[in-house]
Amino acid sequence: MQISSYNEYLLLNDSDKESYLIYNSLSNGFGEIHKDLYNAFIQKDMDYLEHCTEKEQLLQGQFLYVQPIKELDQMEEQFKIFRNQDQTLNLTILPTFSCNFRCSYCFENLTSKSGKRAFSQKIQNEILTYIEKSIEELHFKRIIVNWTGGEPLLEFKNITSLMERINFIANKNKISIDHFMVSNGYLLTPDRAKKLKELGVKRIQITIDGSKKSHDQRRILANKEGTFDKIIENINKSCEFIHITIRTNVDLDNIHFMNEYMEYMGRQLFKEKVSIYFSATTEYSAGGCVSNSSCYANKDFSKVIIKLYESALEKGLNISYYPQYEPVACAAIAANSMVIQPDGGIQKCWNTVGNKNYLIGHISENFSIEQLNSNKWMDYSPYKFEKCRVCNVLPLCGGGCAQQAFESEEKQPVCREFKYNLEEMLTFNFRHQ
Ligand code: SF4
Ligand code: SF4
Repeated sequence: MQISSYNEYLLLNDSDKESYLIYNSLSNGFGEIHKDLYNAFIQKDMDYLEHCTEKEQLLQGQFLYVQPIKELDQMEEQFKIFRNQDQTLNLTILPTFSCNFRCSYCFENLTSKSGKRAFSQKIQNEILTYIEKSIEELHFKRIIVNWTGGEPLLEFKNITSLMERINFIANKNKISIDHFMVSNGYLLTPDRAKKLKELGVKRIQITIDGSKKSHDQRRILANKEGTFDKIIENINKSCEFIHITIRTNVDLDNIHFMNEYMEYMGRQLFKEKVSIYFSATTEYSAGGCVSNSSCYANKDFSKVIIKLYESALEKGLNISYYPQYEPVACAAIAANSMVIQPDGGIQKCWNTVGNKNYLIGHISENFSIEQLNSNKWMDYSPYKFEKCRVCNVLPLCGGGCAQQAFESEEKQPVCREFKYNLEEMLTFNFRHQ
């Protein structure tokens, strides 16, 4: 009998009762246990655990194992299998570098010298050729296409036509296909939402930067007009046709507007139809947050985020804050995953778009699958770092964002918020389950 290294034990002291909780970050099992069982785990009382009546459930939840097991080795093996996957072709396509917004923090700055900003017919044809060639070589079972930009809806005609052609290739080869989109929402109309849904778009992510007052200071049009009202109107009219997720950007400049924002969102009729999550704005070029910027370091954000979700729940917003074991933290460090710029340049990570230092090739130069799958992103592994190997939240964090690690001063993984707020996150989930 062996106790999992990824168990967490919590004792909650509420005014009228004590609750003993157990959680496992590998299986994500979570539940209340009685005091004697809690103590047996804390004291590693193997005799008690061996004979307790809950033994079967504890085994199922991977809190306990009958046979000795090397969990870390197994996870590393899973990591290798998932990172080298050859079942799914994962494409992120930027149809344009252009945007109708002029947000202060946007990576567009990096792309200002990139020449023609929307993709040409030639690049579109080369994307199709690459897809056909790679299906032929690797026999994928699924294609995922993420559409982002710039603002992808500026190129609505081109993207819908390209979607049709990619769908045709997928159908011809009997491969499943799913599209996702990240948009600022300004050009989304119900007709466009319907069309995108028809073409297989499963979800559109739209970003809002807090209340109208804070959003309109930052997410402005070229003529400096605010965009909040139009985005809300578009979400309201389009959310019955397509699933919309609202990413709420949070930083030190707009945190004080979050209450007002949530009260506003809580009054919207669409609040049950859309899901909302909070995300810290990050300076990726600096390997996370730097001290002179307005973004939150992950550690500070770990405390703020629980309060935001508490408040969102009070206002009846549709949220979820329960992490999951992801064998590989993101697609940038996995095989057969690529980001295609409008000029045909290929990146591995969404956040290096426009940055020539991170280019790994060009779609039009006989870019090979070998090139895609052998580069520094494919070398990055949390299992190479001692701090991750002994970390209790490795299953949830997966070594964090590789791009942040590359850019950090220490060239080390940058811990995600769960490293700092696991207890609070579990308490939050227990109290609101
Ligand atoms: S490396 Fe980091 S920034 Fe790039 S896609 Fe992955 S998580 Fe996002
Ligand atoms: S980056 Fe930090 S939180 Fe993530 S696995 Fe490594 S040590 Fe743990």
